[in-house]
Parts: sequence; C-alpha cells; structure tokens
Amino acid sequence: MGAIRLGKIFGIEVRLHFSWVIIFFLVGYTLSFFYFPEQYEGLPQSTYITMGLITTFFFFASILFHEMSHSLVARRNGIPIRFITLFVFGGVSSIAKEPDSPNVELKMAAAGPAASLFLGVFFGAVGVAAALAGAGAPITGVAAYLAFINVLLAAFNLVPGFPLDGGRLLRALIWKLTGSIQRATKIAADFGRGVAVLLIAGGLFLVLTNYLVNGLWFIFIGWFLDQAARGSYQQVVVSQALSRVLVRDLMTPDPVTMPDDLTLRRAVDEYFLAHKHSGFPVTRNEEPVGVISLSDIRHVPQGEWDSVRVSQVMEPLGHGAVVEADNHVTDLLTRLHDRETDRLLVVDRNHHIAGIVTNDDIARYLRVQVALR
Ligand SMILES: [Zn+2]
Repeated sequence: MGAIRLGKIFGIEVRLHFSWVIIFFLVGYTLSFFYFPEQYEGLPQSTYITMGLITTFFFFASILFHEMSHSLVARRNGIPIRFITLFVFGGVSSIAKEPDSPNVELKMAAAGPAASLFLGVFFGAVGVAAALAGAGAPITGVAAYLAFINVLLAAFNLVPGFPLDGGRLLRALIWKLTGSIQRATKIAADFGRGVAVLLIAGGLFLVLTNYLVNGLWFIFIGWFLDQAARGSYQQVVVSQALSRVLVRDLMTPDPVTMPDDLTLRRAVDEYFLAHKHSGFPVTRNEEPVGVISLSDIRHVPQGEWDSVRVSQVMEPLGHGAVVEADNHVTDLLTRLHDRETDRLLVVDRNHHIAGIVTNDDIARYLRVQVALR
C-alpha cells in the first residue's frame, strides 16, 4: 500500500513508503533552513541547502543500511526476506515467518543497532579526519550530524519496547527464559505500549512548553509505536493459533468437481442448476486443471452451449493455485496473499482434489478458536 519500488539490493526488494517522501522533505527543509544556519553561522544559503540535501540522502542511506543488516542476518539464519519497506522513522523488513528460536531473534534484532552504531563511529571518524585535514564547516558539519543521528537511531531502536529492536531483544530474552514466544511477545509489547505512552506524554509536555514541532514528532512516533505494538502481539497470537493447524482441518472437503470435456449445456443443467454453487473445480483424469464460474459461461451465446466445452472457457490453474492438504495453514495464508485470491483448491498427495479452502474458512476457524479461549 502506497509504496514505490526502488530496486533490489543483495536480492532483497527495497520499497519506499510515501510517508518517507514527506519525511525526506521535512528533514531536508529543517536542516537547510534551521539546523545548519543556526549551528554554522555566516555561510551562504545555497551551502546550507547543499549540506541539507547531502545529509538527508545519507540519513536515508543509513536507515537502509540498518534495515539491510537485519535482513541479511535473517536470511543467513534461514528466514526468507520478501522485501523491505522504508517508512516514517525507520523501516520494516517483511519476513515470511517469525524466527524459530530466541537465539536467531537475538542475532537479527542486534544487527540493526550494531549497524547504526558502526555508522555513527564511521561518520564521527570522517568528521574528525576532515577537521584535522583543515576541511571547513560544510563537511565537518554534515559528518557530525550523521554521526549524531546514527547514534540516536541506535539508541532509539534499543528502547525495550516491542516491535523496536530493543523490544525484540527483550522478547528473545524472555522467550529464552520462559520458552513461550506468546508470553514473551505479550510482555515485550506491553513495554512497547508503555514506551509509547511516555513518548506521547513527553510530546504533550514539549508542545505545552513551546517546542511545537519536536513535541508533535514525539506524539506521532509514540502513536505509531503503540499501533505497532498492538498489531504485532495480535499477529503472534493469530499465528500461534494457526501454527499447528493443517489445511485439511479448515477446508471444505470433497467439493463437487466437473470434468473438463463436458459441454456448457450439461455444465449448466447438471451442475450450476443442480448444486447451486457459483463455481466448480474442473478436472481431467481426476486431476485439477482449472476453475469454472457462471461468469465464464455468460460470455458464450446460448446457441453455442452444445458445442463449446468447459475446457475452452474455464480459468486454467496457474502456478501455485493449489495447496496440499497436509501443508500448514500459515503456508496457505502466504499463498492466498501472494496470489491475491480468496480461494484455493486443496489436493492430496496424489494430486487429486481433496477440498476447497477460502478466506472465510480461516476467519471462521479463528473466530471459534478465540471464542473458546
Ligand atoms: Zn532495527
């Protein structure tokens, strides 16, 4: 939603959320017209703008570096990364599943702040070297700011509120101690919401004491963290509830199937009118080959119904359109999401149709589970 694709780095797709475009301008504007002119007086405005643009660019690159290091550590530990979205004050790596063990989570979470800390030291060293070489304020100023912002980024991300990196470290430790990812997530997310409340309260205080812009930033980040903390806890509860469930537990078994050599006339009379379903899986020699719905038939004039066959108008099964009955439901969710569809055919080991599963089946199962809790 609302993201621009930037390209791939190390095979990981990088996306830019629209909020980042706004942040980009805000940061660049604040640096060029307020921060640099106040810190380094007496330079021409064009120099401040150049400093602002360069700093903003490297600030952006620093966040990407931070996020990339999470992703690369995750991938090295066998957790596939689908893409990275950069937004607001950081980024989010879209990982296909939660880490399997607290140790993996520990490594993944530590990678980001470590990367930012490294950049902070790096830009600090560049600044010192530039100053020693006699470089002027434009260069040392940019380096000093980048050193400062990266250390700040590391520090902010180490705050122990889930889903910030510090919260992930906390979760990994509690998970290690208690053996329960759900309890660990609950505690770490509660910390996250606590931090969010502190940020919002601090922001209100700043607004009341005439630091309007800084105050609004605090409130905004606090609100964002609160949303993220709630969302990630619910996500863990849901994936825990589904983690032991197989596709066959949710599917509607033995759907009525239609052979692909049937004429449309017989398809309408013997299937659509007789069974009242709006769509049927189509088979050839017992194997699924497609899906047919009333809208596929509507395009064909009635006069041709005796000569046109189901195989000619059905929607053929594309790659990944079937799921095995013994797969985990989490695989099913990924598949439904990737294909942007709301139903999939389920097959058994011999590739015969075993059932059909829809988003509604999953929602119904979850409602029952939650109600019984
Ligand atoms: Zn991070």
